[in-house]
Amino acid sequence: MKKYNFNAGPCVLPKEAIESTIEAIRDFDGTGIGLLEISHRTPGWERVMKETRDLWRELLNIPEEYEILFLGGGASTQFFHVPANMLNKKAAYLQTGVWAKKAAKEAKNFGETVVVASSEDKNYTYIPKNYTIPTDADYFHITTNNTIYGTEIKYDMDCPINLIADMSSDIMSRPVDVKKYAMIYGGAQKNVGPAGVTFVIVRKDLLGKITDRQYMNPIPTMVDYRTHAAEEERNISMFNTPPVFAIFVMHETLKWVKKMGGVEAMNKINTKKAETLYNEIDRNSMFVGTAEKEDRSIMNVCFVMADKYKDKEAAFMDFAKERGMVGIKGHRSVGGFRASIYNACSQEDVEALVKCMQDFEAANK
Ligand SMILES: *Cc1c(COP(=O)(O)O)cnc(C)c1O
Repeated sequence: MKKYNFNAGPCVLPKEAIESTIEAIRDFDGTGIGLLEISHRTPGWERVMKETRDLWRELLNIPEEYEILFLGGGASTQFFHVPANMLNKKAAYLQTGVWAKKAAKEAKNFGETVVVASSEDKNYTYIPKNYTIPTDADYFHITTNNTIYGTEIKYDMDCPINLIADMSSDIMSRPVDVKKYAMIYGGAQKNVGPAGVTFVIVRKDLLGKITDRQYMNPIPTMVDYRTHAAEEERNISMFNTPPVFAIFVMHETLKWVKKMGGVEAMNKINTKKAETLYNEIDRNSMFVGTAEKEDRSIMNVCFVMADKYKDKEAAFMDFAKERGMVGIKGHRSVGGFRASIYNACSQEDVEALVKCMQDFEAANK
C-alpha cells in the first residue's frame, strides 16, 4: 500500500534525491568508492560542498556578504552558538513555542535575555503582534515556523536591530529577503535534507565582535562561526570532517527544488496544499484547526476533533492508518493531529488526506 508521509521531521524527501543518494552510496562520482567511504578531501567532494553552497546562494538569493555554513549538532546546538557568537550584553527573544523558549534559555548563560512577547498563555496557538523590540539589545531572535503548533511568521519583518531567525521548518518553502536578517539557521531534517547537518547563513561583518563578555570569551574554536567560514574555495565548512552523507542528500534535495522552479514555485505549491487542507478542516464538521487563522503555517497543519466528536480521535487515527497515512499524530504537548506538508509532500498526498477526512465524516457523522 502507498504510504503518505506527514512526519514532522525527519520527514518526506524528494524521491529523486533518495534514488541518487542510493547510487552515490554504491559509487560516488564514478570513483568506484561509495559516498560513505570517500575522503572528504577528494576533489569530487570539494565540488559537492561548493555546489551545495552555491545552490543555497542561488535559491535564496543570498548576498556575498553572508557566509553559508554546514555544521553538525542540529538547530538545538545553534541555540547556544548564536549567543556565543552574537551576545555581548543583551538579547531579545520572541517566544512562540518550546523551540523558541529553549533558544532563549541558552542565551541567559551569556547575558541579559529579554522575552519581548510570548503566546504561551494560549499554548502558542498564535503569533504575538504588538511588542517593542529593545533597541539596545544585540539581536532579536524569532522562530519563523512553529513546527509543533502550526503557526508561522510568513513574511520578513522589519527589525531595528539584528534579526536572527530559526527557520528549521520553513526554510526553502518561500522566498526570503535574506538582507533583512543578520543570521538564519536551522536543522536540515524538515525541508532540505536528512538529520545530521545544520545550515547557518550569517552576515560576515557581525562576527568577531564579542569584546566585553565574561563567559565563553574567547569563543571556543568549534563554536566560533569564523572557524567554519571558507577562506578558500576548497575549505567550505571543512575545518573538521563535515557530515558528508547529510550534505550529499541536501545537495540532491536542493537540485530538486531548483528543478521544481525554485522557492517561488515551491511557495505556490505549498500555499495551494495548505489551502486544500485548511479548507477541509474548516468545512468538515468533525475537525477544528488549532492555530489562529491569520497565523496558520503552510508547513505544519494542526487540528483536533470537534468537541462533539472528541471520543472519535482514536477511531480516526486507525481509519487514517488503514489508508496509509503516516505521522499525523499531533505533538504530545498539543494532542490531536498534525500533518506536516513540507516541500516534498505533494498536492496528491494532501488530497489523499482530505479524502480520508471526508470519508471518515461520511461514515461517522
Ligand atoms: C525541529 C526543530 C528544532 C530542533 O532541531 P534539531 O536539529 O533537532 O536540534 C528547532 N527549531 C525548530 C523550529 C524546529 O522545528
